[in-house]
Amino acid sequence: MEYDVVIVGAGPAGSSLALFLAQEGIPSLLIERHSQIGVPLSCAEGVGRDIEDYIEMEERWICTRLSGARFTYQDGQSFKTYYPQVGYILDRKIFDRDLAARAVSSGAKVLIETEAIGIEGNELIVKRNKKIEKIGFKILVGADGVESRVGRWFGLNTSLKRDEIHSCAQYLLAGIEIDPTVGEFVIGPDIAPGGYIWIFPKGKDRANVGIGVSPILAKHSPLFYLERFIRERFPKSSRLERMRGVVGAKILKEFSKKNVLLVGDAARLTDPISGGGIVNAIHSSKLASSVIKRVLKGDGSLKDYERRLEEELLKELKVREKLREIALKLKREDFSLLIQFGMKNLKDRDISQIGTMEIFGMLIKSTPRFLRLAGHILPLIGFLKR
Ligand SMILES: Cc1cc2nc3c(=O)[nH]c(=O)nc-3n(C[C@H](O)[C@H](O)[C@H](O)COP(=O)(O)OP(=O)(O)OC[C@H]3O[C@@H](n4cnc5c(N)ncnc54)[C@H](O)[C@@H]3O)c2cc1C
Repeated sequence: MEYDVVIVGAGPAGSSLALFLAQEGIPSLLIERHSQIGVPLSCAEGVGRDIEDYIEMEERWICTRLSGARFTYQDGQSFKTYYPQVGYILDRKIFDRDLAARAVSSGAKVLIETEAIGIEGNELIVKRNKKIEKIGFKILVGADGVESRVGRWFGLNTSLKRDEIHSCAQYLLAGIEIDPTVGEFVIGPDIAPGGYIWIFPKGKDRANVGIGVSPILAKHSPLFYLERFIRERFPKSSRLERMRGVVGAKILKEFSKKNVLLVGDAARLTDPISGGGIVNAIHSSKLASSVIKRVLKGDGSLKDYERRLEEELLKELKVREKLREIALKLKREDFSLLIQFGMKNLKDRDISQIGTMEIFGMLIKSTPRFLRLAGHILPLIGFLKR
């Protein structure tokens, strides 16, 4: 077998890349190690409406439409903000599979139960039906998620240290009372050290209830904190599904080498604060597809992908990486001030027109104590505005 482009991993990054390439008339091979696309899954399934900038949505992918968010502190103080049409909670098992099917309809080829296990020159070594096979490529793309090996085979440093990850656990709970239009974030150093608990509605009486914690701050496993929260908040719920996972919170220095590039979680493009990575994964694949098209025509190099990433994604992610560093240093009293700020300035407000930086400015103005922390990121804000 030989293909111009071989993509390892059929998550949102890999399948959307296969789709975008096919739409440009470039048939690729997309391989997935599991026996089903979209299963098993580690995700809370929340996406912003900006997903529509890249993909035409289908009704059957959408479990709920969100129009606001609730922020709750561990002591019970809570406020709700409005953000009309902020995003969706997806059914990713259907979404992931349909995305791959769309790529196939447009001309891509998909092989399941095909695991990339190594590289020899311009050939990918795969294990398929218990046999070892070789697949030739001109360009290889690592879309193989947070555990990516493709980058490592080419000498890209994709390792993550303990302070560079969120460690996560989640249940799909049924039999609970929730507002299906509001996603909830529960914060506090005792309830979710270095992270937060999310309640993402998947219908009127069910939700993805999960947690991400920083392993350097948490004394227990994420499941310990999550179980405790569910016992207190949803004592009568039933558990339909459990999952665990890791989200990277460290931006890579290099995203391509020779004739390989990384997209999505393999490129560590998840938001360092929220842990969200679906839209960034698809965005990176959009950029990769246009660069690959030109490179195959002999115009430009894969390093152009890094330049496009820097312009369109990395600047914002770097600011958020700094903000996470600050968040990890917050003290108990800082959390109280934060929640008081939210109750006073954001409660029951429509925040769709207020940017992150504007909120940050309001925060510093209202609580001069945060100026001390702002010193870390002001140079970055200046850089962004230039
Ligand atoms: C607990 C948790 C909650 C999350 N919640 C959200 C959320 O609400 N919103 C959001 O936007 N993001 C969320 N994320 C992040 C989101 O899941 C990822 O950003 C997204 O899945 C990235 O897509 P991807 O295609 O890059 O990687 P993945 O979805 O991880 O896909 C990688 C694929 O590659 C395959 N693969 C790996 N190695 C090989 C190999 N050697 N050979 C063949 N195939 C291989 C895997 O089986 C997998 O199918 C969450 C993550 C976790 C862990």
